[in-house]
Amino acid sequence: MQIIEIYKSLQGESSYAGLPCVFVRLAGCNLRCTWCDSEYTFTGGKRMTPEEIETEVHRLSPDGGLVEITGGEPLLQEREVVPLMDSLLAAGYTVLLETSGERPLERVPSGVVKIVDVKCPDSGEGDTFRVENLNSLTPRDEVKFVIASRCDYEFARDFIHAHALGSRVSSVILSPAFRKDASGSRDVSHCLVDPQQLAEWMLADSLQARLGLQIHKFIWEPSLKGV
Ligand code: SF4
Repeated sequence: MQIIEIYKSLQGESSYAGLPCVFVRLAGCNLRCTWCDSEYTFTGGKRMTPEEIETEVHRLSPDGGLVEITGGEPLLQEREVVPLMDSLLAAGYTVLLETSGERPLERVPSGVVKIVDVKCPDSGEGDTFRVENLNSLTPRDEVKFVIASRCDYEFARDFIHAHALGSRVSSVILSPAFRKDASGSRDVSHCLVDPQQLAEWMLADSLQARLGLQIHKFIWEPSLKGV
């Protein structure tokens, strides 16, 4: 498999935010989101076997816990990442998979928590979610929308209602987009939508969704990688 990095940090997003987690970051992505902060994953990385990856995960977190498979788009390496996820589950880890939902999800092992980042219009990749993937979502999964504008908010709100997301998954999360070149101060000035504004839109619509902040951007210097 082509791997960019494996490291331990705190989970920064989703309902697992704040918990220790080992991140396995795979190389390659077929999308080009305008605010992407992971462009360094698009090329390169080093080849590792699933066994080598599992050994490194075990070294970083020998007593189990959370492992997130992320990227890039991890499902571009589906043939190898599916057995890896099976193996991590069998070893007792809670496995999270971060994906855009552009690739088919039906072969993802049922024990994996899928965190599906449905792209909104301002990402430049707005029509990429594969609608058939709705049938692969389970009550353990989460759906996230990264919001850069009022237009993105309305897209997310309407998508949540149109597909009854609240009854399909455990969490629906709206998260302000972060400026991809953010550096220096660890505060909301780097958000493309002020979290207070987003909260007010959600409250005005009584939206049954969670406001999410990428807490790693507030804990560590925002341009830092591997945290
Ligand atoms: S899907 Fe993720 S890694 Fe790929 S371009 Fe979008 S934000 Fe970046």
